[in-house]
Amino acid sequence: MSSYRAPRGTRDLLPESRAALSRLEGIARSLAVRYGYREMEIPLFEQVSVFERGIGPATDVVEKELFRLTPRTEDSESWALRPEATAGIVRAYVQHGMQTWPQPVKLTVVGSMFRYDRPQAGRYRQFWQWDAETIGDPGPAVDAEVIEMGRRFYAEAGVADVQVLLNSIGDSACRPAYLARLKSYFASHEAELPELERRRLETNPLRLLDSKDPTMTAVVSAAPKISECLCDACEAHFAAVRAHLDAVGVPYRLEPTLVRGLDYYARTAFEYYRRGAEGQQQALGGGGRYDGLVELLGGRPTQAIGFALGLDRVMLALDEAGAQPAREAPPLAVVVGADPADTVSRLRVASLLRGEGLSVRAELAQRKLGRQLETASKEHAHFAVILGDELAEGNVQLKDLEAGTQRLVPLADLAHELARAAKSHHHG
Ligand code: AMP
Repeated sequence: MSSYRAPRGTRDLLPESRAALSRLEGIARSLAVRYGYREMEIPLFEQVSVFERGIGPATDVVEKELFRLTPRTEDSESWALRPEATAGIVRAYVQHGMQTWPQPVKLTVVGSMFRYDRPQAGRYRQFWQWDAETIGDPGPAVDAEVIEMGRRFYAEAGVADVQVLLNSIGDSACRPAYLARLKSYFASHEAELPELERRRLETNPLRLLDSKDPTMTAVVSAAPKISECLCDACEAHFAAVRAHLDAVGVPYRLEPTLVRGLDYYARTAFEYYRRGAEGQQQALGGGGRYDGLVELLGGRPTQAIGFALGLDRVMLALDEAGAQPAREAPPLAVVVGADPADTVSRLRVASLLRGEGLSVRAELAQRKLGRQLETASKEHAHFAVILGDELAEGNVQLKDLEAGTQRLVPLADLAHELARAAKSHHHG
């Protein structure tokens, strides 16, 4: 047996898991279309500074979890694998002058992200996200629209009991005063702070609210709340977001300590959790408004909001709930033959049908017809196309393996007949 293993924190998605992921990607893409998002791709890696500027140097994601690529020469740029998609999408928005497009620009990316995190359940070094960003809309209505789209994703994916946690983290007008209050609060509790959090007190005190350290729980829950410090404009924005959520029937729980790990957020911040799993660092997804990011990456000031939903955690949630595994479609037909040696005819007929868009397997093993048919039944093919002596006159036997019936069909009509049967049976 080979001693090679997939790298720590990664996992192979074998066909059944891949089908489960494809199903989720399909739901994401369908929702993106329904809500007016356009899919795009960004590179799997970017200049490190895109993430340092865009996410913030004093965040876990950049400080501890960035998957850095070793430069090949001393003077070459340093890159990192993308830990999230927002910074890359905004980099692309600025680079391609999307500010001249009709606003807002609604973009979506589905794909792998990478974080050099300590691997554990639901936390991988390579994982999948559905990311959706609306750039160039100050809200508040769109904030509710984005939150509602995320909730619909979980509903359509079949994850029960997903709860929206909601907060406003203020903006550049009111946050500085709040940060000052927060800093002096934590400074007065400095002795109780773990080493890392003490260092963060200087660089990013907001992050302390988001601490993963269990010894911080009591200090954090008694900390001053941003909701007590919002300026009038942020207060009004937050109230309007809630009113829109109420109007579209999205329940939410106000969570005053929800700040999100990333520096560029302003005003609306939200996360999705399964009810009862709120405290376990197991967010299914999250997002928020990032009104300063476009400017930070070299564009004009542009307000924006988006989310990233973790698809791995949705797969885990569905597994835990005992959901039916996603189905991989069996072939519509298997081409078998009375003469085991005549692989030429079987391959030729299968190739013809595949050219007509049908999902067909050719039996290329040189086994007796009975064995060939057995295998076809076992893999749940609907039909067997049996090649025998009739082939000389241009006919084949079409056996319906589900109904157990069989009839002679001219080769010229075969694709049409199979396509019709596929349609009426909803085969792919
Ligand atoms: P974040 O940008 O950290 O809020 O991530 C958004 C979502 O991506 C989270 O709510 C998780 O569902 C998912 N996620 C983040 N990091 C990981 C990871 N290391 N492994 C699996 N899923 C992750």
